[in-house]
Order: sequence, then structure tokens, then C-alpha cells
Amino acid sequence: MKRLPIVHARNRGSQANRGSQANRWFPSNRWFPSNRDGSPWIARALRITNVRIAAQIFFFALFVFLLWCTWFSRLGGYPVSLFLELDPLVGFATALSTSTVYRWLWRGLFVLVPTLLLGRVFCNWMCPYGTLHQFIGFVFNIRTNAQDIEANRYRPSYQLKYIVLAVFVVLALFGSLQIGLLDPICLLVRSFTVALMPALDAGTLELAERMQAQGLDPELSLLLFAPGAPDARVFAGAWFAGLLLLGLVGMNLVVPRFFCRVLCPLGAFLGVLSRWSLWRIDRDPTKCTDCDLCLKSCEGAADPQAALRKSECFVCFNCIDDCPEDALSFKRAPLPIQDRIVGSLRHGTARLFGRKLISKIPETELRAPQVARRRWVFASLAGVLAYPFLRLSKAVNKRGFDEKAIRPPGSVAEEEFLERCIKCDQCINVCPTNVLQPSTLAEAGLEGLWTPVMDFSVGFCQLNCTLCSEVCPTGAIQKTSIERKLGLKEHKDTGPVRVGTAFFNRGRCLPWSMETPCVVCEEVCPVTPKAIGTYDVDITRWDGSKVTLNRPYMRPELCIGCGICEHECPVLDDAAVYVTAIGESRDANRSLLLKAARKT
Ligand code: SF4
Ligand code: SF4
Repeated sequence: MKRLPIVHARNRGSQANRGSQANRWFPSNRWFPSNRDGSPWIARALRITNVRIAAQIFFFALFVFLLWCTWFSRLGGYPVSLFLELDPLVGFATALSTSTVYRWLWRGLFVLVPTLLLGRVFCNWMCPYGTLHQFIGFVFNIRTNAQDIEANRYRPSYQLKYIVLAVFVVLALFGSLQIGLLDPICLLVRSFTVALMPALDAGTLELAERMQAQGLDPELSLLLFAPGAPDARVFAGAWFAGLLLLGLVGMNLVVPRFFCRVLCPLGAFLGVLSRWSLWRIDRDPTKCTDCDLCLKSCEGAADPQAALRKSECFVCFNCIDDCPEDALSFKRAPLPIQDRIVGSLRHGTARLFGRKLISKIPETELRAPQVARRRWVFASLAGVLAYPFLRLSKAVNKRGFDEKAIRPPGSVAEEEFLERCIKCDQCINVCPTNVLQPSTLAEAGLEGLWTPVMDFSVGFCQLNCTLCSEVCPTGAIQKTSIERKLGLKEHKDTGPVRVGTAFFNRGRCLPWSMETPCVVCEEVCPVTPKAIGTYDVDITRWDGSKVTLNRPYMRPELCIGCGICEHECPVLDDAAVYVTAIGESRDANRSLLLKAARKT
């Protein structure tokens, strides 16, 4: 396939003159031959598609770097949730569901403004998920050029993303934020957090172990996403998140950019906005020979060979690069030309501004997404119906809550939590103890799927840690200071943040049911004074030996639900002390004790 640098035919004369000048600065040699049109090799190197690829590599590397920094020993002030904050759909949907714009979510303007000027540049210049799909599609592409051209034509199924967007927007209006299920940045952060990074860490640790066995001492901790963690992290449902990532990425082999073209709600959101964009790809029908070669690498399936679908165009510039006639260019507000054509297309006498029309297709743009009005109505109705369906779950229903839906410290009350949490799992990524887990259907129902809950069999909430509240981009976990968490200084009156309360299962507790001394839970309880106390009981055991048992008891007014007692309990499979969500301080209705008792 012939590849030309972007040099417009009409400029070729002057380009050649400039080329001879530039050739002096960038002389050609064996490795860097000059271009066929006489322009210097630098023109080829600085081709806009190359600049775009450089931008994609930069943003993907930045994304991975920020994930790598989302660990307590590396945090150091980096804006680790930057991509989530830049995501305009996150800002828009949370503004709909909460009527507020939390902290840094205004950064979405950095994507919105270029979209209104240039179209969906985010999709093919910045989005790390888009880059991943494009890369996989490129590496495993075994199609011929002709098959590529067919695969990159627009298909009606690409409307689905607008339906998905409409459903999510209606749900957000009702206060159920579900965009995180499919938003590309949330999806990618979540997939990296619960599946890819733990797998890479486990692999790196295994490699280090094997090298050590060979007498080598590799310094691989720099490669670890969670250095210093006692073991590679584990997450509930990691297999599913991994399979989903594999499945969506694998679909590129069937339909190029499957996720971006068919499912992505952010792409749909930007597509709706880009109908007003000032610049767009413009086709000159006096040069276009209808060869369709511009479809060969069209990322968005935007039909640049006919009427450009502005809402689908990813502004990848591949079409300009691939056009052998220089019929395509990126122009500011090009004029609609249909009305300016004189003569008959059918009889080959059509002329535009005095020049003969070569293309048989006079239309050059389709602005709005091609979704029938009744489909918008259907999608909105589906959103309305989905809302009560989601809220039916006991886990999120006002009339009951799941005892295991224990939210991180600083979380807002459950209803508002579901209005804010985008299921990005950034909090889960930063948690140094691995206690935060993506919830399954059992704890938080379909509506709260993948929102963070605590699992004390895996970890516990560290007393002097508020990291999850630092990185949450939407305020589902409000930024919380250590003083606020522990109820110190000016927070003395409100007391510490409680995430739940611990209970004893006497049937499994060693001193209670097995006449065996144990004080682990009392020892590890981190609050002062301790929430777990013991009293001595002298007993005669079955074999006649005398033993003093320290039988534990709980002081619920002191318990903050940190879960270290459950985590450290020697009864490993089903701990004799366990924490449930009752008593959490984020919701006055979930108090276990009367206020007076709490104050003691
Ligand atoms: S505050 Fe608790 S839950 Fe949050 S990151 Fe720290 S240890 Fe994990
Ligand atoms: S609570 Fe966690 S998963 Fe939810 S938005 Fe905040 S950081 Fe993301």
C-alpha cells in the first residue's frame, strides 16, 4: 500500500522549494532517504499520524506510571487519579447524580474543549484503553487490505453505544451511577487493579524467587506494582475482570476497535458533542476517485470515503495518510458543498467551483449520531425501568443492608455512595493491606457491583491510613484526615470514624468453647482504651488440669470496626470474632447503640 507523507497536491510546487531548503538542514542519507516528492525525510518523520502515535504512547505510559505510583511508598503527591478526573463522562454523570462537581472533576474540561474544537481527539490520542485496543488490533491483524476496507465501514450496530449512554445518563439522573461499568477509564483502572497488576506482581515475585534459587540476587522491586506487600494481592472476582479484559480486547480480531465503536459510553458522549466541533476531516470530491482506500485504517469507521460521520471520527488522520489523491484534509468549518454543485452527477457534467467533480458522492458530512429518535426514547425508558430493578436488591434497598457491605472509612452514607462511586477501584488499588475488595453481587447487589467493601479475611483497615480517601476521584470516600478518622483534636466531639462493629462467635472462640487460652484479639486491638477486654475464669479441664482462661468481651462503644481482630484470629477459616457493618458512623440510622452509650 502506497504511503505518502501529508503533502497536499496543490502545495507540492511550493513544498518542493521549501523541501530544497529543508534538505539542507535535514540531508538525506542511506538510513534516512528523502521522500519521493523531494521533501526531506523529516516531513515523513513528523507526519501527523506519527505525532499521534507518539501522543498515544506518552498517554499510555503516563497511565501505567500513575497506576504504578498508586502505592503508599510511591504516592508522593502525584495526581494518581488524573485520567479518571480528565474523563468528562465521570464529571458529567456525577454532576447529574449528585448535583455537585467534586474536587478535581472540572479537569474534564481539558477533554471537553478540544472535543468541541477538533472532535473526538481523546479517543485516538489520549485514551489508554483505545490505545490498547488499537495496538492489539494492529498486532494481530491478519486481514488483507480489501478485508480491512470492508471491516472499517460503518455498521448500524455502532449505535449501541448511544443507547448504553442514554441508559446510564437516565440512571444517573435517578441517583444510580452505573457509568463505571463500561466507562473505558474506569474499566481499565479496574482491570489493571484487580487482574493485571496482581498477576504481573505474582509473576515477578516468582521470577525473583527462581533467580534467587539460581544464586542470583535480582533487584526486581521496581517492577512491582505493590512492593513490600507480604504477598501478591488477591481480589474477589479477579478472574472475571481478567476474562472481561481479554474478551473485549480479543474482540478486536473480529471487529476492529470493537469496544470503542460498539460499547464505549464515553465515546458516545464525545460523539454527541463532536457534532458541534469546528474542525473535521474534509473530502474534496473534485479529487476523490471513490477508491475507498481511506477506509483501510479508519479507526472510527467514520466513512471518510463518503459523508464523514463526525460523531464516529476518532481524528486518527489515517485516512489523510492513506488517500493517494490528497483528497482529504482536516479543515476548519468546511462549507457544505451539495448546494454549490452545478451540472449533473449522473451525466458526469457536475462541477464544483469550476472544477470537475470526480467522486460520485457529493455529500461530505453527517453531523449527528445516526440514532433514530424512537431508539433514544426506548433507551431512556430502559433506564427508567432499570432503576427500580437495580434497587430491588436487599443489599442496596433502604429497608435493609448487607452486613458485609463494610465501606472504607470516610465513605458517605450508602445512598449517596451509590450516587458517587464509579467502580474505578482506585481506592482498592491504593489500599496497602488489601482489605478493600471489589464487591460481588452478594454484598452490594447489581447496583453496587465492583464498589469497594472490606474483607477482613484478606486484610484490615490500618489505623493511621486514609489513602483510599485521598485517591477517590468522586467523593464516594470523602477526603479524610487522620485526626478526623481517629476523632482527635477538633474532631473529639464527633469521635472516630467507625466502619462497623466486631462480634464474638462464642461457639468458635478458643477460650469460650475449647477451654484453650488465647488473647490474640485483645492484644491486636489498636484503639485506646481497647475495645476488646478479657476477664479471668479459673476452670478445671476434662483431664483434671487447672487453667485460667482470659475470656474476651466486646465494648461496642469503643470498636471502630477496623477488623484487625478478625484478620488475626487464629481460627482461620471462619474467625471467632467478626465485623459487620452495623454501627458504622456514616449513617445515623445504622447505629448499634443509643447516642449516650457511644459517648462513654
Ligand atoms: S484507610 Fe483502611 S481501607 Fe483505606 S486504604 Fe487505608 S487501610 Fe485501606
Ligand atoms: S469509592 Fe473507590 S471505586 Fe468508588 S469512585 Fe471512589 S475510588 Fe473509585
